[in-house]
Amino acid sequence: MKRRVGGLETEYGLVCVRADGSRALEPEAAARELFRPVVAMGRSSNVFLRNAARLYLDVGSHPEYATAECDDWWELVAQDRAGDRIFADLAAQANACLAEDGQDARIHLLKNNVDSAGNAFGSHENYLVDRRGEFTRLPRYLLPFLVTRQIITGAGGVVRSAPEDGTASHRAAAATADGTAREADGARFVFSRRSDHMWEAVSSATTRTRPIINTRDEPHGDPTRFRRLHVIVGDSTMSAVSTHLRFATTDLVLRAIESGRALPELALHDDIAAIRAVSRDLAGTTPIPLADGGTTTAVEVQQRWLDHVSDLADESEQQTLQDWQRAIDAVRTGDRSWAAENLDWAIKERLFAQVAERRGVGLEDPAIERLDLAYHDIEPAQGVFHALRRRGLAPQGPADERIEAARTTAPTTTRAHLRGQVVTAAQEHGVDHVVDWTTLRLTRPGAMPVQVLDPFTTELPAVDALLEEIRSHGSGSPRSSMPFA
Ligand code: ATP
Ligand code: MG
Ligand code: MG
Repeated sequence: MKRRVGGLETEYGLVCVRADGSRALEPEAAARELFRPVVAMGRSSNVFLRNAARLYLDVGSHPEYATAECDDWWELVAQDRAGDRIFADLAAQANACLAEDGQDARIHLLKNNVDSAGNAFGSHENYLVDRRGEFTRLPRYLLPFLVTRQIITGAGGVVRSAPEDGTASHRAAAATADGTAREADGARFVFSRRSDHMWEAVSSATTRTRPIINTRDEPHGDPTRFRRLHVIVGDSTMSAVSTHLRFATTDLVLRAIESGRALPELALHDDIAAIRAVSRDLAGTTPIPLADGGTTTAVEVQQRWLDHVSDLADESEQQTLQDWQRAIDAVRTGDRSWAAENLDWAIKERLFAQVAERRGVGLEDPAIERLDLAYHDIEPAQGVFHALRRRGLAPQGPADERIEAARTTAPTTTRAHLRGQVVTAAQEHGVDHVVDWTTLRLTRPGAMPVQVLDPFTTELPAVDALLEEIRSHGSGSPRSSMPFA
């Protein structure tokens, strides 16, 4: 597939704390506060917005934002960032209400994957693939790439391999003068904390077994032509460079697999053992057993794929190849100078080491865990990532105006454009409607649903008719909408 549609689902961590840091509201209650304006607008905590994204409250009180279908990965980054801003504004509004009530409570939304209790939640990538391609053949080639992709696009973090006992020896080995974090007795820096939460390579279940690739067959499109590949191994990434690389590199690898040509044979002996080992090996050189005998390394797998897909990249994808190579080199050579200002894991690696050294503590110190959470706080004034970004120490990402536009404007080159038009018109004219990824419908009795089964469709006479009907039959009074989405 030369042009591919994709979307990113982000589950946010939700905490509501008092000024002293203790828990103020249970997540359920905090989520209720957060979603008040959403429910007021859509009479539901599951709505599609004017930018054609889906905003909802998932089980387990995780607020979720699923971007509209994009066919350009920088557009996807902008749409994803727009989701952060929408939720940051919802949180600000909820916090203002809590303050008015005189409650000592503040909601924080964290774009991360593992909470302090060790629960993992997701950042799911969706890729449109052809039904005719051999879906069963995909994992053989895609899994080695995905297992090792964390050395490029992991969010970084600290895991504790032994129980904390707070002894001084923990501190000793924690931070080194060259700015890299080393293993302390009980804590070590890893590429991805999520790697420890993956339990299966391929499965149709998402929560019970946590596979790397989810094979649930829900194409959100014409089932005779399309499948939706659901990759659930990724970390939520704050850096626009990291998020962009997740999609841009995976897209290229999928294109190579679809091309039918001979591919790098790198099937791993044990994907789950490998993903944990790769996460812990900051030099990328740990031998990983191959299925057919012999070994490889994370750096080698990524380099083989990069070399293999280079000729498939067009002019606009040269930057992707360059960033990918720089990321591999950062691991291979240990020279983090580019990575530490561009990739989430390396930004954090440097930051944690600096803070640990300054405070004279080890990576197991609770201050580092708080810093990790604060890095992912989406509130621009509170979040550590955003503070670094403002100081030029993390990527700027899409221009401010582009992100602002993406709050209310759907991507124009996919069917999201149609959904966005319908939701916008229906809100402006106060017309009740229900939409999902494939269907657009007014709720009045007898209204016929319009199906858009091809994700590339951007014009459809039936949608024009629907828009006409909305404009002529609407009450004319705009449905109170969230001002910021
Ligand atoms: P759940 O969150 O309950 O697992 P789900 O996986 O269906 O459900 P949604 O949260 O509804 O996910 O998000 C679907 C994502 O897939 C969106 O980001 C959307 O843009 C994207 N998407 C929709 N249709 C397609 C498609 N045909 N191919 C690839 N991606 C798609
Ligand atoms: Mg979802
Ligand atoms: Mg999903």
